[in-house]
Amino acid sequence: MTGSRRLRIASTLTGALLLGATTVRAEEESGGELSPLQRAALGDDSAWALVESLVTEVGPRFAGTSGDAAAVAWAEAKLRALGFPKVWTEAVTVPRWVRGGASGHVVTPWPHEVRLLALGGGAGTGDGGIEAEVVGVAGLAELEALPDEAVSGRIVFLSQRMERTGSDWRGYAEAVPIRTQGPALAASKGAVAALIRSVGTDSNRLPHTGGTRFPEGVAPIPAAALSAPDADLLERLLARRGPVRFRLELGCRFEGEAESANVFAEIPGATHPDEVVLLTAHLDSWDVGRGAQDNGTGVAIVIEAARLTGLEGGRAPRRTLRVLLTANEEFGLSGARAYASARGDEVASHVLGLEADSGAGAPLGFRVRFAPGDPDAAVELAARLAPLGLPRLSGEARGGADLGPLVPRGLPLVDVDLDRSAYFDVHHTDNDTLDKIDPENLRRIVAAYATAAEWAANRERRLTPVPAPDPEDRP
Ligand SMILES: [Zn+2]
Repeated sequence: MTGSRRLRIASTLTGALLLGATTVRAEEESGGELSPLQRAALGDDSAWALVESLVTEVGPRFAGTSGDAAAVAWAEAKLRALGFPKVWTEAVTVPRWVRGGASGHVVTPWPHEVRLLALGGGAGTGDGGIEAEVVGVAGLAELEALPDEAVSGRIVFLSQRMERTGSDWRGYAEAVPIRTQGPALAASKGAVAALIRSVGTDSNRLPHTGGTRFPEGVAPIPAAALSAPDADLLERLLARRGPVRFRLELGCRFEGEAESANVFAEIPGATHPDEVVLLTAHLDSWDVGRGAQDNGTGVAIVIEAARLTGLEGGRAPRRTLRVLLTANEEFGLSGARAYASARGDEVASHVLGLEADSGAGAPLGFRVRFAPGDPDAAVELAARLAPLGLPRLSGEARGGADLGPLVPRGLPLVDVDLDRSAYFDVHHTDNDTLDKIDPENLRRIVAAYATAAEWAANRERRLTPVPAPDPEDRP
């Protein structure tokens, strides 16, 4: 598959045929005519080449590691080479958490080695590890209901399964609290460690890592995610009579702070340089896998959307296009918070925020968050995205995690919704690698982002800040 894909991309002739197929399909679905920008995006594999370069020449780039520093240098050099007129970095302090080694074993009733990964932010076990009886719960509510005596001195195992849902975040949103909150709740009840079923949808023996949080006053305990088949095994053992004992050894630890950076590139607006279309994606990744879809594709999407919109075609955009590649989204939103605190007052001049951080599945449609004073904006954008077969979907755009701090300040948003049904097979695992990315999906996503960016950058009237919803109006 990888070999044939590389061949397809290498061949100009085949590339042209592919473009033909993509173009015809999009126009057939919509009946609309593609814009020159959309034709250019659908015929261009530069985004795929960017992800390929990032995962091959840098690889994993967890906050504060040498890979993180290499990614910042890669991004700066790449943005300059692509011809962005302004490229710079702004320093961001990030926490330094080191994974160390990890092992897990069922001791009784029958010995088994299991595959697990420490959760970011959890404590290490110290040399020699921890051995204790396991108490199994389905999820947070069941754990909450247990008396402390049933938890104290034990290893809590949260076995809730993530449901595979289509394009929305529901399956992930429902399951991820066992990772983000489960270990802290277990710790507050006296548990010595916490295990969770990986928050993911695959059945490989590859655990999914991710961050967990311990609030002030709750001392971190060791916390790890089991691969799905190993979680199944532990569930079967717990379903039998008699205690299950487990040995856990985690070498993870905090090592203070490190310096990383937000990487910026701009194409100044020709007539309204102080009005900004912000295209953002996080540059960091977890330390497992190669960060291909989380978030190499996001990085490539925003860079390519800005390049095609502002540097190709010979016409400067009226407003400024700003690419922001953030530091440390995965383990604390450090870059997004730094941007909001340093440049929060500029948000009133931001006419649109577009974030890419949800893999590289087929694009399905779009959502907006526009001010009531811009009543025609969504209709205009819908007409422009129709040739790509992307309808307006119900619900309001929310941006991604990195735009979160800017949303209460009134940032108008467009979300491009992607098919995420396969994303959580690889998310935060060793399997987040290049071969899972479909080049045609990537071209279509870039076309969608570029369409929205070009529209917002060149529209006659700027999009205006969105008033914060009145808390009284909230259900
Ligand atoms: Zn991400």
